[in-house]
Amino acid sequence: MKYDAIVIGAGLAGLVATVELVEKGKRVLLVDQEPASSLGGQAWWSFGGLFLIDSPEQRRLGINDSKELAWQDWLGSAGFDREQDEDSWGRKWAEAYIEFAASEKRDWLHSLGVRFFPVVGWAERGGYLADGHGNSVPRFHITWGTGPEIVKPFADKVRKAIEEGDVDYRPRHRVDELIVKNDAVVGVKGAVLEDSDAQRGESSSRVSIGEFSFEGDAIAVTSGGIGANIELVKKNWPARLGKAPERMISGVPAHVDGRMLAITKQAGGRIVNEDRMWHYTEGIKNWNPIWPLHGIRILPGPSSIWLDAEGNRFPAPNFPGFDTLGTLQAIQETGYDYSWFILTEKMIEKEFALSGSEQNPDLTGKSIRKVLSRVLPGPPAPVKAFMDHGEDFIVADTLEELVDGMNDLTGSGLINLEKIKRQLIARDREMDNTFSKDLQITAMRGARNYKGDRFIRVAKPHKILDPKNGPLIAVRLNLLTRKTLGGLQTDLDGRVLNDVGIPISGLYAAGEVAGFGGGGMHGYRALEGTFLGGCLFGGRVIGRSMAMFVPSEVDRTGVEQDKGYVSAGTPHG
Ligand SMILES: Cc1cc2nc3c(=O)[nH]c(=O)nc-3n(C[C@H](O)[C@H](O)[C@H](O)COP(=O)(O)OP(=O)(O)OC[C@H]3O[C@@H](n4cnc5c(N)ncnc54)[C@H](O)[C@@H]3O)c2cc1C
Repeated sequence: MKYDAIVIGAGLAGLVATVELVEKGKRVLLVDQEPASSLGGQAWWSFGGLFLIDSPEQRRLGINDSKELAWQDWLGSAGFDREQDEDSWGRKWAEAYIEFAASEKRDWLHSLGVRFFPVVGWAERGGYLADGHGNSVPRFHITWGTGPEIVKPFADKVRKAIEEGDVDYRPRHRVDELIVKNDAVVGVKGAVLEDSDAQRGESSSRVSIGEFSFEGDAIAVTSGGIGANIELVKKNWPARLGKAPERMISGVPAHVDGRMLAITKQAGGRIVNEDRMWHYTEGIKNWNPIWPLHGIRILPGPSSIWLDAEGNRFPAPNFPGFDTLGTLQAIQETGYDYSWFILTEKMIEKEFALSGSEQNPDLTGKSIRKVLSRVLPGPPAPVKAFMDHGEDFIVADTLEELVDGMNDLTGSGLINLEKIKRQLIARDREMDNTFSKDLQITAMRGARNYKGDRFIRVAKPHKILDPKNGPLIAVRLNLLTRKTLGGLQTDLDGRVLNDVGIPISGLYAAGEVAGFGGGGMHGYRALEGTFLGGCLFGGRVIGRSMAMFVPSEVDRTGVEQDKGYVSAGTPHG
């Protein structure tokens, strides 16, 4: 049978595209290799942080933001330098996305029932000059209810459409090939995988029990990035970030396997900016894992001391939460694939947020009482669980014990007590004045001029070696794979382009597989909270342009339908 449209991947981008198609009266086949328990893909696991510009939440906190400032920050971070080729569409998508984030994004989500935590986070602070990398102001808006609440409005609509027969949802259908006829993509072929009782996020069996083949007028690839395919991450690793790490942990479920990239290339699609990826440097091994090599990212406040594997403090601006890839490069230059935080209990209770819906039961469960308890003394329960059970954590009353614990953990004896003591004493001496030459201390104090940071995010500056600030804590930080910034090159309608820049008839892509739009709208670096937003925006764009491409009801029945077509080039439509 032939569908109006086929969507490959029921993550956020695929769900949004499906909703748009159904709302334009199209009949959709939605296939996913995972069981129905994983509907929503990575977004369900996400922290639900969204990049918004000049929002009411920002204004209430006294933050002056604007589209011009956000664009300045975006360009300073992206560093587009392939504009005649690989960046040509990514940069256009970036402009369209900034327009979306500064205008209708919040109202649209609000109309769908999405609400935001009132304190806006300041992610990826940069640490360079005004036109360099990083967010000049806080823009990370946490969804009230985290990732599941971003997925919900779209998953609910898709479920209703399934009941009403407008969507044929087929989990355990893995696409292995795109069917090409006369240079157009007209369908999908693949394997039906055996039933699986894997719970959300768990790996499911890849045993095939049959084959399938379906045709459709328009085909969307919304299959996510490559983060769980560590071999591919290493293969694509850019020389500018040093040698590919030997050991990495995984920030994404196993289904983020990147297979559809090669499959789409086989059908003529062009992959660009493969060397651009967004991996984190503050990964800790989950003591209670759901997927293979499961790692959690610490979203750190700025006060922890950051040391390399040999115990040398990283130079400015490699402070926690400043420049993800800059610090990754600095770590890779050391020749080791891990680094250390040293901090106090007073710092950890305010400054460690863990990314992911399951690591934030208060926000995910929308419990105001539990959220308010974050301001009470002591670390939040999920952080405490890592302190008690996490293999990367050492808690000690004295520096001697802490250093012994660090050396025991790695078995390397690389950390020298006197060297650590000297650096901590020097750092603590800078606390004796309200000004300092130590840029990290200046940054901590500057951050506290922002109400949100002073209230819940940045500890009052204090001496690390003063015992009244609680036990000392060391955390071994692993490299954690997460996002793919390059991918299928698409035009502003989300049409996949071929090697000579011509759209392949019938083929569309959105979300992480398309580098969140155009094959790389972030360029080299991201401002955070832009990934979910990229799926929302891109999913909507392709849903609308596919609906336009599919023969209208005039052709089929003689009854005119409202097309309401809008491309990324006209984001206000
Ligand atoms: C723990 C965590 C925290 C995060 N926090 C944030 C945050 O706060 N803010 C933010 O902006 N972003 C965040 N992200 C990133 C964001 O969630 C993802 O980038 C985004 O959800 C990707 O969505 P997607 O639809 O492109 O792909 P996915 O969610 O990966 O979905 C793709 C789907 O396609 C299916 N699929 C793949 N290949 C095939 C095939 N061959 N056949 C059939 N089906 C296939 C997969 O099974 C999957 O269901 C976070 C991610 C994680 C994991």
